[in-house]
Amino acid sequence: MTQRAAVYPGTFDPVTLGHLDIIQRGSRLVDRLVIGVTTNPSKEPMFTLPERMDMVRRETADFPNVSVVEFDSLLMNFAEEQGASMILRGLRAVADFEYEYQMAGMNQQLNDRIETVFLMADVSLQPIASRLVKEIARYGGAIDKFVTPAVAADVAARLGHKDLIRGK
Ligand code: ADP
Repeated sequence: MTQRAAVYPGTFDPVTLGHLDIIQRGSRLVDRLVIGVTTNPSKEPMFTLPERMDMVRRETADFPNVSVVEFDSLLMNFAEEQGASMILRGLRAVADFEYEYQMAGMNQQLNDRIETVFLMADVSLQPIASRLVKEIARYGGAIDKFVTPAVAADVAARLGHKDLIRGK
């Protein structure tokens, strides 16, 4: 029997409850889910690549068919290397659509054997974005509704906040 594998690529700076929801849903669709963490220096990440990979590994430790791999190459080449037949992406409202549509279209032209599949996170988690989590935390706001307690602690530590950032 052939194994069905997917790659879920992203920056994960830091990994959020939105990402984790997509990972959980995706892991049920395939035999093997490879989370591809990109170097993405253009985004000036808050966390280094090894830090982001460690965070994703820690938060997905309970999923037996999920692995975390670094990548710094063309996504379609990375997917082929990993033996994946699918690229998994999460779709949030209209804001993501244009970019995702364009990327999926170009990737299809690069490699038509690999299918891009879009999943929606739980409705309550859809607005979450790593960029906004960082922005809220920088201004001392509560981020515990958007990330796990361990990630909230990592962000607090990076920003030099003494306390965990807690909501009501
Ligand atoms: P990138 O740098 O490629 O945008 P991200 O780490 O921001 O990577 O996100 C990786 C993937 O997860 C993208 O497909 C993004 O749309 C999706 N994603 C992020 N947050 C959410 C969310 N709250 N709900 C659904 N999908 C999400």
